[in-house]
Amino acid sequence: MGLRGRGVEIKTPEQIELMRSAGLVVGETLALVRSSVRAGMTTGDLDRLAEVYIRDQGAVPSFKGYHGFPGSLCLSVNDEVVHGIPGGRVLLDGDVLSVDCGAIVQDWHGDAAVTLGIGEINVDATRLLEVCEASLWAGLAAARLGGRVTDISHAIEAYVRSHGEYGVLEDYVGHGIGSSMHMPPNVPNHGPAGKGPKLVPGLALAVEPMITTGSIDTQVLEDDWTVVTDDGSLAAHFEHTFTLTERGAWVLTALDGGQARLAELGVPYGGPGA
Ligand code: MG
Ligand code: MG
Repeated sequence: MGLRGRGVEIKTPEQIELMRSAGLVVGETLALVRSSVRAGMTTGDLDRLAEVYIRDQGAVPSFKGYHGFPGSLCLSVNDEVVHGIPGGRVLLDGDVLSVDCGAIVQDWHGDAAVTLGIGEINVDATRLLEVCEASLWAGLAAARLGGRVTDISHAIEAYVRSHGEYGVLEDYVGHGIGSSMHMPPNVPNHGPAGKGPKLVPGLALAVEPMITTGSIDTQVLEDDWTVVTDDGSLAAHFEHTFTLTERGAWVLTALDGGQARLAELGVPYGGPGA
């Protein structure tokens, strides 16, 4: 592992393999939550399910104890954007739930999030989730060796802007990831392309668009964690950890490495088995 300019950590192939192991635990945990969640469960129920699964894989839930965070998942409902604390809140039919998960395998991190509808959600909520997830993939698809970090940012914003009237959060951003969960560089979800550190092999980034049906202004609740929209509008959040190899992109937190979705977008897949 080396450090390039601006503190960007460059991983060896062996370290990327460990990040893939962590990423698979994260991806599997999110799949478990997706298949288990029902109206009537509490966010605490989901958190316990996730923590047991992560530890059973020999991994460590990276959120637990992070700056004192009490959960293994961040679970954010409706107007909560990110960093919701699991607890006694009962999930209701029609809720929109952001599930953010991090895991550590032998000191290497994975970080990913999905937003799920509980039971039947309305058309506007469905569309919000679709646009947010697709904007994440548009961002990943824009990342090429020799490009710059904000090529991703620009692609995310352009996708969202061309698909409706949504707020693209500016106060919270994606990040470098590796031997820590949060490292340089920042990966904003808006702004011009062609800026920031160069995209090189061994770089790993967590890309995480957060969009709302209204304002981009947010506040943090009195629990010091939960970020909510000022205007009460619905929020969605999707995230993947990925890297670039000489062959293309490898989405470390996607169960298939991103192969299927990248193929749909006509982007080379850079992981094993390509
Ligand atoms: Mg995350
Ligand atoms: Mg993250």
